[in-house]
Amino acid sequence: MESAPDGSWTVESARDFYHVARWGAGYFDINEEGHVCVRPAPDGSVSIDLLGIVEEARRRQLRFPLVVRFQDILRHRIRVINEAFAEAIRECEYRGRYRTVFPVKVNQLREVVEEVVKTGRPWGLGLEVGSKSELLAALALQSAPESVLVCNGYKDSDFIRMALMGTRLGKRVYLVVEKPEELERIIDISRRTGVVPLFGIRARLLSKGGGKWADSSGEGGKFGLSTEELVIAADRLEEEGLSDRFELLHFHIGSQIPDIQSIKRAVQEATRIYVQLRKMGFGVKVIDVGGGLGVDYDGSRTARDSSTNYTLQEYANDVVYHIGEICNAREVPHPEILSESGRAIVAHHSALIVEVMGSIEKGPVRHPLRFEEENHPVIAELMEIRSGLPDLNKLEAFHDAMERLDSAHDMFNLGILGLRDKARIEHLSWEICRSVLSSFEGEAYIPEEIQEFRERVGAQYLCNFSVFQSLLDHWACDQLFPIMPLGRLGERPEEETTLVDITCDSEGRVEHFIGLEEKLRTLCLHRLEEGGDYFLGFFLMGAYQDIMGDLHNLFGRVGELHIFVDDEEPEGYYIEEIIPGHTVENSLRAVQYDERELGRSMKAQVEEAISSSRIKASEGMLLLQEYNAGLKEYTYLRF
Ligand code: PLP
Repeated sequence: MESAPDGSWTVESARDFYHVARWGAGYFDINEEGHVCVRPAPDGSVSIDLLGIVEEARRRQLRFPLVVRFQDILRHRIRVINEAFAEAIRECEYRGRYRTVFPVKVNQLREVVEEVVKTGRPWGLGLEVGSKSELLAALALQSAPESVLVCNGYKDSDFIRMALMGTRLGKRVYLVVEKPEELERIIDISRRTGVVPLFGIRARLLSKGGGKWADSSGEGGKFGLSTEELVIAADRLEEEGLSDRFELLHFHIGSQIPDIQSIKRAVQEATRIYVQLRKMGFGVKVIDVGGGLGVDYDGSRTARDSSTNYTLQEYANDVVYHIGEICNAREVPHPEILSESGRAIVAHHSALIVEVMGSIEKGPVRHPLRFEEENHPVIAELMEIRSGLPDLNKLEAFHDAMERLDSAHDMFNLGILGLRDKARIEHLSWEICRSVLSSFEGEAYIPEEIQEFRERVGAQYLCNFSVFQSLLDHWACDQLFPIMPLGRLGERPEEETTLVDITCDSEGRVEHFIGLEEKLRTLCLHRLEEGGDYFLGFFLMGAYQDIMGDLHNLFGRVGELHIFVDDEEPEGYYIEEIIPGHTVENSLRAVQYDERELGRSMKAQVEEAISSSRIKASEGMLLLQEYNAGLKEYTYLRF
């Protein structure tokens, strides 16, 4: 554990320990008071204390868990992505332009998409949709004529007609053909409506993305046309006299691509296809490189799944350079470049604040059973080990205590050890093992069994949230997110923990954490103080987590605060919007319950209880009031 040269713990130690500078991308840091702070504009002009936000939320009677969105981070992300491509274009003397197309699926929340659209206007930012719902939202949100809308995903006739509505309104709507039959459907509807669309074709590249979403690409990918299908589709467009409307070549080899080599290979393959299409006489003028631009969640800057071994600038340089070089060599015009970089825009802008409600400790309880004058021989042995511990070989004492613990278990199962004695043996064994563990604290080498024990006895911190609602990618694909305490960072953390949520599901836990060398099995946090609050921040949560979460145990959507930086405000920010989390009633409604019907049923039961004299009328009324108030409550726990 990192500490100052004199061994003391400082805020700087916490900064290293939780790798804040590595994953924080300049947006997150720790202030002098030992609290996590957010710098929505990394020039450092404003620093917002997250514990200050917790206090503000409480003043406003908001409850936790709570998602905090920093809209200024969204703005900054859009700017840096566009600046990186502008720099690459300058550097490579590229003669086409670059445009970000925000894939709505990454975060569909209206406030997020509106902010992205508004901020992106000077750069001509477009939107990408993959379903009818996203399409209808995007058509309404992007009001500027000529705005770019890329329609990916499978399309039925309704989808196509709606997209053509955008074309009629003057937008640059690309209908991207994902499978061969779609092309005929689009041609047919276009003939009937008299609206001629702009076509895109998604190529199913052989280059694979790598990382957790690698299956989006390669021969087995579920989207896109194979080389043969692509050629047939292009010929079909020519036959229909639509060659000049075939403008866009699209590919997407997966989200969160960790290794830059995969990106280079895919860009090269797609550019070769583009060059050939140009040579065949098609008017393709846009290459859409899809998503994939990753976020360094664990700060390791490696090709590990939750990281990236490249920077944003390197990504932009490689995309622009490879397209430019191949086009130069084959003397075809430089196409416009689109990227559907959603994760890289939204991941940083939101954090989840979660309250730790207590811990489930493993090991000796604080107030053990009393020991007798005459003890069971195993207890006597353990007492001797405990008292002699300072002079004993620590590892030997550890092995002996473990062995006694196992034998107590066997004796109990054979019926030759009583429950109280078993409890005493467990207490002593744990106590000895824990003392041995502490004696290794700070040592450069920790024996394997002690390391394993450390993980085994780590406390479980009970957190008031649902992994299934708020951290789905961790549960589903073991994606790592930075997690750290919001305060007490000037104090050395001493408790190895895992996190468990409040769902009645043993999968509702976080057991993998970021580490520079490898992922860690525990997260070192502070010991909980009696009566004190302890808040954890889950960071880089803005991509996918909001929308993929589910209603497991009917814990519903989490409440939100939207923060804007403002120098005029005393704290440097103001809360622009509060979105309440789901109430019990909202969650029940989502699974077809009607609160009025529930209320009626409860009323009938209470009336029956009153008429059969089980309860008094006044008590019955109170019960009903409480039930109805319960329906209006936030679904998460309150203490
Ligand atoms: N474009 C398409 C077609 C996608 O399927 C996805 C997500 O998988 C994206 C863009 C977003 O990619 P990213 O998560 O890398 O921003």
